[in-house]
Amino acid sequence: MPIVLQVYNTLSRKIEPFEPVNSGKVLMYVCGPTVYDYSHMGHARTYVAFDVIRRYLRLMGYDVLYVQNITDIDDKIISKARNEGVDWREIVDKYTKDYLDALDKLNIKVDIHPRVSEHINEIIGFIQILIDKGFAYVAPSGSVYFNVDMFEDYGKLSGYKEKSLWDQGEYVEEKRHPYDFALWKAAKPGEPWWESPWGRGRPGWHIECSVMSTKYLGKQFDIHGGGTDLIFPHHENEIAQSEAALGLKPWVKYWLHTGMLTIKGEKMSKSLRNIFTLREAFKKWKPEVIRLWLAKAHYRKILSFSEESLYEAEKLYNKLANAVNMLKKIIKENISFKLDEDQIKTLRELSNVRKEFYNAMNDDFNTSLAFSQMVRLSTIAFKEIIPSENYTLAVKALQLFEEFNKIFGVLDSHLHEVGIFANIKELVDLIVEVRSILRKEKRYELTDYIRDKLNSLGIKLYDEKEKTTWRFY
Ligand code: AMP
Ligand code: ZN
Repeated sequence: MPIVLQVYNTLSRKIEPFEPVNSGKVLMYVCGPTVYDYSHMGHARTYVAFDVIRRYLRLMGYDVLYVQNITDIDDKIISKARNEGVDWREIVDKYTKDYLDALDKLNIKVDIHPRVSEHINEIIGFIQILIDKGFAYVAPSGSVYFNVDMFEDYGKLSGYKEKSLWDQGEYVEEKRHPYDFALWKAAKPGEPWWESPWGRGRPGWHIECSVMSTKYLGKQFDIHGGGTDLIFPHHENEIAQSEAALGLKPWVKYWLHTGMLTIKGEKMSKSLRNIFTLREAFKKWKPEVIRLWLAKAHYRKILSFSEESLYEAEKLYNKLANAVNMLKKIIKENISFKLDEDQIKTLRELSNVRKEFYNAMNDDFNTSLAFSQMVRLSTIAFKEIIPSENYTLAVKALQLFEEFNKIFGVLDSHLHEVGIFANIKELVDLIVEVRSILRKEKRYELTDYIRDKLNSLGIKLYDEKEKTTWRFY
């Protein structure tokens, strides 16, 4: 089992040791949504997977900067606005809000959320570099295209080396080759436009990610992610644009791709009319249950959506939450610190759970195995710790729940006071120790004050001749 983090890199098609470009810092970029409709479970699959990866890298001690773009200029947005007879910005605002609200509910943190419409000048500047270097050309309409034949590494990410595989799904006569792709699209009547050296128009899709990642993360960075649906042409085109313009290889060190979320064997996608939106899902299940269901699947696996599997996840969530709450109760009510033989065995088992959890995460973020250790922890809690009512074991188990939850992020509401409970013994011991000194000095006004104050906080002191003991009541 790996002791250092290993990740599967789509670019090399191999598992590689993870070593960031700058030691101690991880720069990551994940392709975000095109905001023309409600976010669905498929989106959440990718966003939760990368949130887990971000959290794990943080737990390992890396300083992580995480950027996820919002595509707010796109053909689909324009056509939706036209169909509904509203301004395109109205569409963008409505679905951006829905997306950000879903992230918030799913306990996902992103550091920077750049929007295409706010980076037009940078995009124009980047395209100009590509034209100046001979990688792009301006067509008669005023659109600008990337000349794929000029970039000799084209196909290295997808493995599509044959030109016959390079179809971009963009049928425009003025392109020099059918597989060239648009960097800038000349404005058509009724469409939003911005001024550019090539006339009025708007950016193509792929260029935004090259430009915005470079702006916030620099010319070379560590992790670029998205679903496997984006490997070709989107990520292939991003590499071509970026390596052509910036002149550094590799532009991105590790390419990570999430397996698709499917429903009845098909990719969940708006265009296939089979989406289960997150706003619908939140009506049926707590966000923690949805997050748990997504986070416990290994990020590279295809994940099949069914309502039954979410109800199963709900049971698991309840099991974990119950274990945490019962352990908290032990800490509040019992002050039995001594461990017998069996309890020492349990302590060793807990340390084994922790070791296996990290082995799993280091193995290309194997959350599926790591989560099984979290479930094992709850089983140990129910079978061995809760019946024994032992404080030391309860604290240890809760600390492990806290540690694992830093990655899974599903038990925050149950764990928020645990840090205090775990330290409370040390704190009360300290106060009692100081009070014993005051007792010896016969400063009874102060010792009585401390006793009464602790009493009002639910902690009872028992003064014996030489020492004082305490317990919660
Ligand atoms: P889109 O709005 O379709 O451009 O997708 C935004 C992000 O969600 C991209 O990283 C996609 O790869 C990802 N995504 C979209 N649909 C799915 C799905 N069914 N399963 C997993 N990821 C998806
Ligand atoms: Zn992208």
